[in-house]
Amino acid sequence: GTSCDAAGVAAAVRSAADVIIEHRDELVTLDREIGDGDHGENLKRGFTAVVSKLDTAGDTPGAVLKLVASTLISTVGGAAGPLYGTAFLRAAAKLGQESELTASSVVDALQAALDGVVARGKAEIGDKTMVDALAPAVKAARDSDGTDIAAVLTAAADAADQGAQDTVPLVARKGRASYLGERSAGHMDPGARSTALLLRAFAQAAS
Ligand code: ADP
Ligand code: MG
Ligand code: MG
Repeated sequence: GTSCDAAGVAAAVRSAADVIIEHRDELVTLDREIGDGDHGENLKRGFTAVVSKLDTAGDTPGAVLKLVASTLISTVGGAAGPLYGTAFLRAAAKLGQESELTASSVVDALQAALDGVVARGKAEIGDKTMVDALAPAVKAARDSDGTDIAAVLTAAADAADQGAQDTVPLVARKGRASYLGERSAGHMDPGARSTALLLRAFAQAAS
């Protein structure tokens, strides 16, 4: 559709939690290859906590995303907790008191999320992080130039999938995987994968 209220955003967050929980083992396996193996469990814990609080979230899309942010910050830990927390917090701030999302506010929220992750983590495209999924997703969302929220999010999710896939040959330059140097090549970045999963879940919830 062309708009989405707080209840719609809460439903999308629930779908995202389901997808993260379903993919817990896959994310753990990816993080075992180039990190410490906790990414799937960290996010499962965080999104389980989010779902348990979602009923108290408030009546704007921004309020829902703000609750997601504060819950992820206090429950996920590691590198990804503060980064995803910042992403959702910046998106929430961008939406302000708006009662309904539109395709263009979704694009602006995604851009704000990316800007927050980059401000916090200082990763550039090609450093083999979640930025490699989120940055192309924002660009694709903007270029899709539509009024349909599902179409914008599907374009973002498609680009994020490709971006995550494209992290496989890269050598990590940020985060724990960078300690491996050249040995980080040949594996998908777990945070790029989880970003792609989240965007796909949001796109499917909007469809
Ligand atoms: P930790 O490495 O502390 O165990 P997680 O396993 O939960 O944390 O998350 C790892 C993911 O965090 C990586 O796969 C990467 O995508 C992301 N990440 C790590 N450092 C950065 C950074 N500086 N900028 C952006 N993303 C980062
Ligand atoms: Mg880890
Ligand atoms: Mg860890």
